[in-house]
Amino acid sequence: MIAEKQQKIIESIFYRLVAIRSDTNSIYEPIIEDVILNWFREREYFQENPDYFGTEPLEDDTYRREVVWALIRGEGKETVVLIHHHDAVGIEEYGSLEDMAFRPEELKEALKNRVKKKAVLRDLQDENWIFGRGTADMKSGAALQMGVMDHFSRRKDFKGNLLILSVPDEETISKGMLQGVELLHKLYQKYGLNYKLAINSEPYFNNVRDKALYYEGSVGKVMPVIYAKGVTSHISNPYNGISPSMIMANIQRRTELNPGLCDVHENDATPPPMWVHLKDQKKVYDASIPEAAVGFFNWLTFVKEPQEILESLKEFAKEAVTETLVFVDGSYQAFCEMNHQDYEPIEYSPMILDFEEAYERAREDGGERFEKEYENMLFLLKQDYHDNKVTLPELAVKLISLTGDYINIDEPVVIIGLSGPYYPHINNQNIIGDDLRLEERLNRITKKYYNFEFQKNEYFMGMSDLSYCGFTGKSEDIDVIKRNSPGWDEVYSIPFKEMQKLNMKVVNIGPWGKDLHQRSERVYGPDVFERIPTIIKDLIEEVLTGEEKSAEVG
Ligand SMILES: [Zn+2]
Repeated sequence: MIAEKQQKIIESIFYRLVAIRSDTNSIYEPIIEDVILNWFREREYFQENPDYFGTEPLEDDTYRREVVWALIRGEGKETVVLIHHHDAVGIEEYGSLEDMAFRPEELKEALKNRVKKKAVLRDLQDENWIFGRGTADMKSGAALQMGVMDHFSRRKDFKGNLLILSVPDEETISKGMLQGVELLHKLYQKYGLNYKLAINSEPYFNNVRDKALYYEGSVGKVMPVIYAKGVTSHISNPYNGISPSMIMANIQRRTELNPGLCDVHENDATPPPMWVHLKDQKKVYDASIPEAAVGFFNWLTFVKEPQEILESLKEFAKEAVTETLVFVDGSYQAFCEMNHQDYEPIEYSPMILDFEEAYERAREDGGERFEKEYENMLFLLKQDYHDNKVTLPELAVKLISLTGDYINIDEPVVIIGLSGPYYPHINNQNIIGDDLRLEERLNRITKKYYNFEFQKNEYFMGMSDLSYCGFTGKSEDIDVIKRNSPGWDEVYSIPFKEMQKLNMKVVNIGPWGKDLHQRSERVYGPDVFERIPTIIKDLIEEVLTGEEKSAEVG
């Protein structure tokens, strides 16, 4: 079991971290970074080895945020990497209790009179549950990893190396971990490390006590951005035009919550796509059909690659446009009969393009004028993005819309592009290297100390920084993403090559948490202070030595 000394250390740093506000993508993050850095500075080991810890600044970052890292060096090259994020989501959910969001005890008392949900009320009566913003997601994970670091920093006979990365921005676009990838590179070159396993400690969700979940991978996320241009006309003459809104609605109806689009791996399926934005592009009010409409949505993946996603969306777009045209034509026929007019079929030759094709076409039609305007817009958007005035999908919408504007035909056009943040799916089955027998090890270690079971899950479903601990896709996938994501490399990019080189196994082992991002967010104390750090400590030891831990080592 982890020693009482470390349990106390975890408890104290946990409450300190919870007390510090660290809203994601905000000026608050550097404050908690200082606290974490200072915590390492105070350890005896790092006073003796001041080169083994430090910070890596995020490139070109508005808030000057940093990745905090610390390395414990033992014998040999084998290295385990601990990863957690120190940002948390905002506190709007707390309403009038906002000022208690970082004060667990007061919050618990206050919630007792305000909560109706039985499951929450039960946990409010249970001293093991700790409420507050960031308690589960994931200052608990940060604190218990720091406790594990403290344990190994005191070991004299340590075989292997242990590195910890504390990153910002996970809840926004994982800028911290993207910088972390570069840092991991620098460190392995500098110290000759061989990364074996990355351990993240995001919380698991479960409703039964004594059954914990751990994850040997992390779900992927692609964000397609769809643009449809119709044919405008005054609304008194509707059959002269085609509504882009109707085209978009038909694409949405075919994709949203379509169970056929769930990505299936063994016994698991991802949730189907869900649209998060859908709007016409009318700039002023007038009585004409809007010129264009745009939308974007999330598509979660286990195995599906971006190329397949683009191809299938082109198919859906084609069907949706055809459906729209058939419907308009049918309506027109009925209208002509009512008005005793001659009917002539409505015919169009629609164009369905991915962003790469659309950009080429716009260049042919718009020439240098288009290129200049596109470059200009990109330059300004880059600034706006840096100043937090525009989000990545909004930026993609603007660039795709401009491209669409320059395609000079009087036919319906659909463009399918992609927007960051992109989270590649990752799973140990696809990562080359020795089988670390994580399931067997975890269950043996757990059984030794505690009366509960660890159930293996292939993918952590909440999107996590583990996505960037490797890249198991093909190089064609990288090309597809780059060419179809407007602003790639200028505004947002992913170090695929570096990720490929990291090539380490991944696992998420964290404490029991509930209601993340809600005001009833809470974490199970015994997991944070004792159970999970004990299990992680033994697992690290086994992975680094290749031996089974049977005897108790404090
Ligand atoms: Zn998290």
